[in-house]
Amino acid sequence: CIRWLLTDLRLRLSNSSIILHAMVVSYVSMFALYNVNMNMQGSYVYDINGNKYLDSLAGLWCTALGGSEPRLVKAATDQLNKLPFYHSFWNRTTKPTLDLADDLLSMFTASKMGKAFFTNSGSEANDSHVKLVWYYNNALGRPNKKKFIARSKAYHGSTLISASLTGLPALHQKFDLPAPFVLHTDCPHYWRFHLPGETEEEFATRLAKNLEDLILKEGPETIAAFIAEPVMGAGGVIPPPKTYFDKVQAVVKKYDILFIVDEVITAFGRLGTMFGSDMYNIKPDLVTLAKALSSAYVPIGATLVSPEIAAVVDSQSNKLGSFAHGFTYSGHPVACAVAIEALKIYRERNIPDHVKQIAPRFQEGLKAFAGSPIVGEIRGVGLIIGTEFADNKSRDSPFPAEWGVGAIFGQECQKRGMLVRVAGDSIMMSPPLTMTAGEVEELVSIYGEAMKSTE
Ligand code: PLP
Repeated sequence: CIRWLLTDLRLRLSNSSIILHAMVVSYVSMFALYNVNMNMQGSYVYDINGNKYLDSLAGLWCTALGGSEPRLVKAATDQLNKLPFYHSFWNRTTKPTLDLADDLLSMFTASKMGKAFFTNSGSEANDSHVKLVWYYNNALGRPNKKKFIARSKAYHGSTLISASLTGLPALHQKFDLPAPFVLHTDCPHYWRFHLPGETEEEFATRLAKNLEDLILKEGPETIAAFIAEPVMGAGGVIPPPKTYFDKVQAVVKKYDILFIVDEVITAFGRLGTMFGSDMYNIKPDLVTLAKALSSAYVPIGATLVSPEIAAVVDSQSNKLGSFAHGFTYSGHPVACAVAIEALKIYRERNIPDHVKQIAPRFQEGLKAFAGSPIVGEIRGVGLIIGTEFADNKSRDSPFPAEWGVGAIFGQECQKRGMLVRVAGDSIMMSPPLTMTAGEVEELVSIYGEAMKSTE
């Protein structure tokens, strides 16, 4: 079946899309899905043979409202029937675009946001942030304040700039990245990087000091912004150590450095709060959104910017020329209509509270396996969790890569009807936020059986 599908894809893709073809093949090499619409209620997807799988990653951390929410389908078709497209350039736009901007600005309350800008993805939103921040500093007459500080193991996307902000070697090596204006500071992974006897708070203090040292070494007048995910996702699901965000925010504030929070995975209830910023008391100047913004039914990303940044960009535009940046599909009315409906559902069904209710069983059920001799650490918060395998439970003894322990565990899950994300010897899960208590039980049970057979 797999062979048939690959052949079929080859036939369908034109010769000019060789790179795309390579990517598609790598995505489908394990198995292939079809007709996800068969999932009308729960958190399941089906492969080409009709086998059913619990989707523990919500697509790619994104189908927050499950695979087939009829209200989202209706929002898209209604909008397609009304106005399938108009652009958002030169003071023209559409009603759903404006309504979505208003909705997002009122929903994000961790700090006040002044304007929204729409993109097609999280990567484009992060790229847009870099351009906005550069434009802002040019407008303020600070042309040297242009560098960005990101963190090792962060994931911020795969365009040139967002991949530069990313802190994963695979996205840099062989691509001549990161770009020279991007610096990386420590990954806040306590289990992996704490010193003997160091508490979480002491670890956070050390990381904040390292960040400050980096800023001083480079010169604060050259650093424009710091970017962070509230909980690192693709880097292995890494929640911050206690007091970490208080301490790094104090440092960046001291040197007049903007704080960009990348909420692409953590927004709309994933952690049990509407935004990750609410959970960790982050007060950002800029916010990145995508994925659950439309529950992934249509591509859309957004950047929110503080009123101060918006005012500078607006007021200076005559001097510098307008902020000449945008995509044909920025603020696409169909994408915005779907996102508006998704936001309504998050609020009406009080999705963050639902997550708060089911998350303890999800977290405790999986963390009960932390004692397994092949597990180094199981870590997570709300409905996101990562498992890192290690020999003898030691962070210093990874399993030989050729054993493929993570992949074996992934296959054991798949055999039992559950999909997980495997990255080396890390397993990541972030199921739909609409998951039922019964589905959590099923997930915990499959995870446990897969663990036993991997051991
Ligand atoms: N930021 C974070 C935290 C992400 O997890 C991702 C994607 O996984 C992105 C940005 C990039 O988003 P996209 O894949 O929509 O470009």
